Amino acid sequence: MSIDTSEWVALSTRFTPGWPWPEESYGLDPMFGADGWCRGCGTPKGPQSGALVMQGRKFPTAGVWMPNWLFDVVCLSGEVAEQVADRFAVELREVRKPLGPTSARQLIPTVTRQPWYDPAGLSTAVKARHAKHNPNESGSQCSECSTWKWLPIGEAEASVQLRSITSATDVVASPEVFGDGLKAFRHLLFRRSLGEFLAGTHPRAWRVVEVAPAV
Ligand SMILES: [Zn+2]
Repeated sequence: MSIDTSEWVALSTRFTPGWPWPEESYGLDPMFGADGWCRGCGTPKGPQSGALVMQGRKFPTAGVWMPNWLFDVVCLSGEVAEQVADRFAVELREVRKPLGPTSARQLIPTVTRQPWYDPAGLSTAVKARHAKHNPNESGSQCSECSTWKWLPIGEAEASVQLRSITSATDVVASPEVFGDGLKAFRHLLFRRSLGEFLAGTHPRAWRVVEVAPAV
């Protein structure tokens, strides 16, 4: 089924509290397995298989939070997670500390198959964003896993082919990967009702970002 253009929104946050564990893998080892992500570019090789583990020190207390380093990971406090599970179509996964469980939950996005972006348009947007430091570069291909990674931009900086996004769940992640060095993240979109609910839990930290539909 094709989706109405206004149905998906992005979220932006002013804070990234807490640090994934262990630091050496930026928290990726527990989430994807030691061999489950590329050491050359930081991109996971497949779906998330394990739980996010957060360092116990400064464990986030917000209702909705994105940790440092992992810019496509959104987590909920136990209380918010219960409300979200009741009202929305989401997959939730436990968030742990090195020494044990917590009541926090991670929102697991559905990675969609169809491209979100027209490559030429995305390339133009990326170059515009990075014109100062990388005027002619839009990304790089990993020599180890061949993943093409676009230099980082936000969801609202290029037109999204919203009509190609179909999902039974209310959180989706782009097939395109963004980042630099070992940083790798997918773009996230939320069904509008969920995005507004999440931003509404902490309006000073989160805001809804409208994305431009590709024509
Ligand atoms: Zn790689």
